[in-house]
Amino acid sequence: MSTTGPPADRPRSFVVDSMLGKMAKWLRILGFDTVCQRLETLADLERHRAEGRLIVTRNTRWRNRPGVVFLTENELSSQLRRLIREAAIEPADVVLLARCIRCNSPLERVPKTRAVQRVPDYVFATADVFLQCPDCSRLYWRGSHTDRMLDQLQRMTGWVIETVTQRRT
Ligand SMILES: [Zn+2]
Repeated sequence: MSTTGPPADRPRSFVVDSMLGKMAKWLRILGFDTVCQRLETLADLERHRAEGRLIVTRNTRWRNRPGVVFLTENELSSQLRRLIREAAIEPADVVLLARCIRCNSPLERVPKTRAVQRVPDYVFATADVFLQCPDCSRLYWRGSHTDRMLDQLQRMTGWVIETVTQRRT
């Protein structure tokens, strides 16, 4: 696929084959709408393509289909770099804490008072922004774990990222 199109043409949603669960998790961490499913039939592929999703798979059956990024890489960091290149993803596209890592649902900001019973005291004392998944109710906040994710992301991609968190909130 082309990687040189204008920004509006760049895919911003994905379907990731269920054999690539870590990749799906990281795309959600980056803030992208990412479905993780088994891609068994051509109808599955066409349905996701019609929704505008870029298809990410290691299944050789789909390697030459349009709209497919076929990954040959074995390691997550190599896979992620490949997808970033193929989908022309840039650091500025990344929004941490935008989606639930488990459900893919967009997170919703909740008042700090609603987090008080649900997080450790030190988190409540130091974090100011809390977000919740409307589907599984998992609570997210910016803290040392998000800093570690950011560090890991920078190591895997070679990016240098300054502020990407919570732009949408
Ligand atoms: Zn969730």
